Amino acid sequence: MRELTLCSGALNLVRSHALNSLPNEAVGLLGGDENWIFATAVPLCNRRGAGEFFVDPYEQFLAERAIKEMGFSVLAVYHSHPYGGTEPSKEDLVFARVNQRLQIILAINFATQSDTEPVMDMSAYQVVRDKLRRYRIRLSCANSE
Ligand SMILES: [Zn+2]
Repeated sequence: MRELTLCSGALNLVRSHALNSLPNEAVGLLGGDENWIFATAVPLCNRRGAGEFFVDPYEQFLAERAIKEMGFSVLAVYHSHPYGGTEPSKEDLVFARVNQRLQIILAINFATQSDTEPVMDMSAYQVVRDKLRRYRIRLSCANSE
């Protein structure tokens, strides 16, 4: 399985974005380099409510430009699952078929823990020629922090 590395800075951004967006889904872009080290995240505004996401195209354009200006490439789209579950939904797969970028799901699960700190799981996938391709996510990266 192919692997990507998610830096702690980017992970923290995605995490807090997902929590701040509750009960809605959070969506955004991840930027990184040619070694698939994901160093930065740019949150986008979800124009729909819970259970789906839609992003203003101009806002997405600005986010992509911001990532490029930081010296990174836009590598992935992330979104959150406020009610847990890292499996892509039917809508997620339709989206991934159109948007060929890597997709990352951050699943928030309050149910498995008694305190207020939720458990978060992640998955990464891509739909290439109608085939679901999964990726392993390695956390933190040594060479940029
Ligand atoms: Zn989803």
